[in-house]
Parts: sequence; C-alpha cells; structure tokens
Amino acid sequence: MPRTQQVKITCPRCQQPFVSDITTIIEADDDVLAERLAAGELNKIDCPTCPFQGMVSYPVVYHDRQHRVLLAAIPGLEAMGEEDVWNAVGEDLQWVVGAMPPARQNDEYLYHPRLLPTLEILSGAVSALRRGVDADTAIRAVYRSQLLQALLMTGKDVNTRRALFRESPDLADEEMLGILNSMIDESLRDANLSSAARLTDVRDDLATHLRNTTGLRRIREHVEQRRPDLDSTGLTGSNEEGRR
Ligand SMILES: [Zn+2]
Repeated sequence: MPRTQQVKITCPRCQQPFVSDITTIIEADDDVLAERLAAGELNKIDCPTCPFQGMVSYPVVYHDRQHRVLLAAIPGLEAMGEEDVWNAVGEDLQWVVGAMPPARQNDEYLYHPRLLPTLEILSGAVSALRRGVDADTAIRAVYRSQLLQALLMTGKDVNTRRALFRESPDLADEEMLGILNSMIDESLRDANLSSAARLTDVRDDLATHLRNTTGLRRIREHVEQRRPDLDSTGLTGSNEEGRR
C-alpha cells in the first residue's frame, strides 16, 4: 500500500511554507502511482502563494515485492552519513517491512535498499523496470544516460571529458562506444550535423581513452607475467641468491 504524508514544505521560489500531501512509498502493483513516478510526475506541488509548480525534493521509496526490488531516492544523499540516511527513509523502510506478510518479513533484500541520489534517477529506473528490464540494468542505464548528458555538455573541453571517463570506468566502456556510434548514425540520418559533430568528439575521445587504458592494462599484465622470470635472473633485486 502507498504511504502519503502531510509534509511541511518551503516553496523554492517565494520561500513561503505550506503543507502538502507527499507520497513517500510506492508499491509496484499500484499502477497509477507507479506510472506517475515513472513519468516524473510524482509529488508535483502547486505553491498556494506564487505560481511555482514543480517536483518536491523529498525521499521516495519504491518497492516491487514480486521482483524483490527496493529502491530509495534520497535527495542530498552524496553528503549524508548513515544516520542521515536512516533519518530520511528509516521510517518508510520499516513501514515497507511491516506491510509484508510475516513469512516474507525476513527477506534479505528488504534490508538492503538501493540508494539513489535523486528522484529523477528513481523515475528513470522505475520506468525501465516497468518495461521489464531488471533492476541492475535499469539503474545502470539511468547512470549511463546521465553520464552521456554530462559528456555532451562538455563541448570542446577535453579535460573535463577525460575526467568524466576516469570517474566512471564501469560506464565509459565499449558498450558506451557502441551507443555513441548508433547515436551518430541516427543524427546523420536526421541530417542533424551539429549533433553528429558533438557526438563524434565525445566518441573519438572515448575511443582514445579506452585504447590508452587497455594499453596500460596490457603492459601491467605483461610485467606481472614476466615477474617470475625476472626474479629467477635476480635482476629485480628481490632474489639475493640469484645475484651471486
Ligand atoms: Zn511560492
């Protein structure tokens, strides 16, 4: 069952406080709410004082008991310690466990929610989950699309681009190279040349980055493999016997 709470909110535009209904727990079998979350339409507020309309930055928990998926979006997560996280979603997580049949209240996944830093990421992941994608793939796809967006914003700034590649070695990979190639083909088909040029810059830098990191890995592996030989010659200095 969903959980909706009356929450005191401060309007981000006019700073006036007001009370609004905020949904903090969504169960996957609740199609209306789950669809609203997937569409990025959950917890939209209308300020009673000014014309502001928008999504509220408030923690939201998504639970799919059939597929054993428990996700929690916690705005500001990056700066939080464990206690802050517990304060933000602990009550909701207990509520989720309490709503399960007793026989399933010890299910392991209930005690290891995946924490996501924004409601947008949760929306994207839920949208993919509802299309039948598994949780790992769904979350990975959202992070990947965020990285792509960030990369496309870098323009001619190669250094920022390289830093982004280095920060996300598990996302900036051959698969992303393939995605970029198909995006370039698509832009060319649509005769969108500026988009194709931007994508090509990113693609070429990623290709160089992957070539370099692969090259470095090969050298490292090669050295590791050669080590026993080097040791037996005593050239590495680690084998005193061999030197004499
Ligand atoms: Zn307002």
